[in-house]
Amino acid sequence: MNFENLKGKIFLNNRFVESRKAKISVLNHSLHFASSVFEGIGIYNKKPLFLNSHIDRLLMSSKILRLKNNFNAKFLSKNIYKLITLNSIKNGYVRPIIYRSSHSMSPETKNCKTQIAIASWAWPKLFGNSEGISMTISKYPKLNKKIYPIEAKSSGSYQISVISRVDASKKNFDDCLMLDINKNIAESSACNIFWIKNQIMYTPKTHSILNGITRQAVINIAKKIKLNCKIGDYKLNTLLKADAIFLTGTAAEIQPVRKINRHNFNVNSKVIQDLKTEYEKIKRLGLKSTSNI
Ligand code: PMP
Repeated sequence: MNFENLKGKIFLNNRFVESRKAKISVLNHSLHFASSVFEGIGIYNKKPLFLNSHIDRLLMSSKILRLKNNFNAKFLSKNIYKLITLNSIKNGYVRPIIYRSSHSMSPETKNCKTQIAIASWAWPKLFGNSEGISMTISKYPKLNKKIYPIEAKSSGSYQISVISRVDASKKNFDDCLMLDINKNIAESSACNIFWIKNQIMYTPKTHSILNGITRQAVINIAKKIKLNCKIGDYKLNTLLKADAIFLTGTAAEIQPVRKINRHNFNVNSKVIQDLKTEYEKIKRLGLKSTSNI
């Protein structure tokens, strides 16, 4: 899909315009310096799932990236709902992006204005692979909070993921596992990672990952269904001994992993099935925040 040909409307700096006419300059600051932050929000039956959690993270990300603005939760929420209606999206995705204008060709941003665009489209699952996905290991480590504000969902934090994903694809893997600078498990190119061993669920701490909204939802689901969840720093050999592994993300939802390099894992794990069942219930309820689970 060439997103330049997206049908429907895009919200661009306070106006709903035809998607094909929603243009920014090739000399835009955020294109050259990746100085933007964004969100990905799932729409189920016309309702954006965990909307408040996504808006909170978007506003936090823009603050961290010093993107001065007066957008607030009410403004964002109102225009997201309006866009979903205008574009008649039943099941799909919303992509708000906050970026800088074209008033600088250097990291100096004094004259740049903060701008916003919100797009939406009907979209199936990211992987949609019921047989589980395959992963290899990225040669680059994931950044951590001491090097880069990884808690922000910012365009800049994706470069290593993009390169690693290209390399994984060349080797015929679906995705790649990223380790942190101390060789602990971090996450995949665009999803958080969990695994199950002896009926206990494990996931990494947040110092070198994006703290996904779906990750937070899954941790809360585990509490609800009394599944023990341990959060810590774990090395690759621990992960490779897991009974089952899965990724989480807005688009991927709960995605089992079939193999990491040559190591195979159970994709029919009962624990993963139970988590998926609960997640489906939450999708139907259209909860606004992961803390409502
Ligand atoms: N980690 C990274 C690097 C991501 O890009 C994403 C979002 N695709 C996630 C984790 C999952 O976050 P969420 O559940 O909020 O979509």
